[in-house]
Amino acid sequence: MALIINGKELAKELESGLAQKVNELIVKTSQRPRLAVVLVGSDPASKIYVGLKTKRANLCGIEVADFCYPENISTSELKIELERIVKGQNGNQIPDGILIQLPLPKQIVVDEVLSVIPVELDVDGLVPLSQGLMLRGQTRFEPCTPLGILKLIDKANELLGNSILLRGKKAVVLGRSLIVGKPIGLMLLEKDCTVTFCHSKTQNLKEECRQADILIVAIGVANFITSEYVKTGAIVIDVGINRLADGRVVGDVDFEQVSQVAAALTPVPGGVGPMTIAMLLQNVVKSAIGRTVCGAIYK
Ligand code: NDP
Repeated sequence: MALIINGKELAKELESGLAQKVNELIVKTSQRPRLAVVLVGSDPASKIYVGLKTKRANLCGIEVADFCYPENISTSELKIELERIVKGQNGNQIPDGILIQLPLPKQIVVDEVLSVIPVELDVDGLVPLSQGLMLRGQTRFEPCTPLGILKLIDKANELLGNSILLRGKKAVVLGRSLIVGKPIGLMLLEKDCTVTFCHSKTQNLKEECRQADILIVAIGVANFITSEYVKTGAIVIDVGINRLADGRVVGDVDFEQVSQVAAALTPVPGGVGPMTIAMLLQNVVKSAIGRTVCGAIYK
């Protein structure tokens, strides 16, 4: 039976460490780290995610400033608003990080809008320039979901007595999105894994996945990965979030089956999801600490 890696507990642990760092920062500077959250439109799921992030940020002592805009805002209008946030205009302070809640409405050219955020404030790690810098190993903030996945793998290794160290291991990443698949593949490559990317056109998918010492699944297809896809003793990270017709939320991995063959497995919910938020908060605190050392960059 696989070891179940509890992302909720790990995230809590990390966030209590962050709260301590925030306290130290407040003592030194009398300033709280500040995250600006941009929400466009009234998508209920986005509102829930923003609410969750705000609550967890506040628990760490991070101040959250919400900037809400109507569904029909244009790309150029949104860019102007963002420029104001970046420069701390309209009576707002310059934040330590800016998060744009995705997805944005259809009329918005997402890359144009994201590109307004300077790399130094891109705590979500999704701005095109940050992604390019990542390819060169020079990014300031790594994207939150892949960063959370690495922490979960580290935790699995620690709990398994380091039986699956990353160096030289075969990692298979299922999914090649810009948010999850591509960046986690690159990050595992940086950790000296031998990485294979798989996607909807991959031939012999089962065989490819069965080679993996570390299998990352991010496709958005409920319970797709059964035990036949998994090598005995692998670490399996389930990134997927899928809502079934009966309302249950499940991952891309068939939990019952795969827990019989994997060495370690993350659950859904309670695996990658909470870690993604913890990594966002970690990036905000890192930014705030960096700016007190270097002085505010944009003043
Ligand atoms: P995308 O839809 O952007 O990408 C899905 C990827 O999966 C594509 O590369 C696609 O291949 C591949 N794929 C889809 N179906 C199959 C299949 N049957 N066989 C092989 N490959 C397939 O998704 P995201 O990366 O944004 O998200 C993936 C999942 O992770 C979703 O469930 C999402 O909700 C979840 N997620 C969870 C997060 C968290 O914090 N827990 C954060 C972000 C996402 P191709 O490129 O060929 O089309």
